[in-house]
Amino acid sequence: MGRSSKDKRDIYYRLAKEEGWRARSAFKLLQLDEEFNLFKGKTRVRRAVDLCAAPGSWSQVLSRKLRASNESCEEVKIVAVDLQAMAPLPGVTQIQGDITKVSTAQEIIRHFEGQAADLVVCDGAPDVTGLHDVDEYIQAQLLLAALNITTHVLKPGGNFVAKIFRGKDVTLLYSQLKIFFSMVTCAKPRSSRNSSIEAFVVCQNYSPPEGYIPNMSNPLLDHSYDVDFNQLEGPNRIIVPFLACGDLSAFDSDRTYPLQLDSNKEYKYLPPTQPPIQPPYQQACHLRKNNLLAKEDSPSALLGLGALNLGT
Ligand code: SAM
Repeated sequence: MGRSSKDKRDIYYRLAKEEGWRARSAFKLLQLDEEFNLFKGKTRVRRAVDLCAAPGSWSQVLSRKLRASNESCEEVKIVAVDLQAMAPLPGVTQIQGDITKVSTAQEIIRHFEGQAADLVVCDGAPDVTGLHDVDEYIQAQLLLAALNITTHVLKPGGNFVAKIFRGKDVTLLYSQLKIFFSMVTCAKPRSSRNSSIEAFVVCQNYSPPEGYIPNMSNPLLDHSYDVDFNQLEGPNRIIVPFLACGDLSAFDSDRTYPLQLDSNKEYKYLPPTQPPIQPPYQQACHLRKNNLLAKEDSPSALLGLGALNLGT
């Protein structure tokens, strides 16, 4: 397969390179902003948190959009959190940390000098296993961890945007988010493939229950939910508002496009804007390159018995 093949099959991958974004996901946040006016809203966003930020295209969007005018540049603070290190970005402070830890929330608050954030975004995803139920469950836990951290750092009236997998737990997640936000919408940007169960919850107007004390262990998915919640019928059944967003004339992420999009502009292959630094697959690549991944070709290794003494 040639280098340009992915450019043909994935229009947003190609556009991301042309426009200098580190990942195609930048378009998801841009299209969510088009629909929900996330960055200007009622008041201009000055403090924003990007949870699960690496390699950093959402942080890039925040940096470019929030620091657009010179006067606002000084007062804009953006904090990006990820387990992995990422290359620096103008106006973005990085925390290499885990969003399930309260120490991460405290570090964010320190960066804002005690002030609360106007916006929290989270595009977090665990390493997918391919087992859909497991992936959906872990994704839901990550979303709830992001919600927990958000309750520590977001100002009342602020907004929260997070990736969600539209699985069977979506109703429960929606109900839990509704406890904290007056408006919750499930949105699918044009740049998110239809073939993917990924969507984004856009939670507006943070208004926690009176007396709520933020903590990191609440709420979590509860297995009794299937019995208590999912079987509600008729008017009691919760319908999660769903919105396809982004200009409908925008590129379709599931289509293949010709390499030359514009007759006046010749196609030229571009390398990715910023390859990840220290990606978790780096060691696997090194082992493979040096032929260190090869398995022992012995009958016991084939049987998965490894170092077992078979008494022969
Ligand atoms: N929004 C990013 C962008 O536009 O470049 C892409 C995010 S990527 C899809 C998902 C990220 O979630 C990964 O970088 C991964 O390290 C991070 N992640 C997963 N679990 C995490 C956790 N518990 N704490 C912090 N980051 C986490």
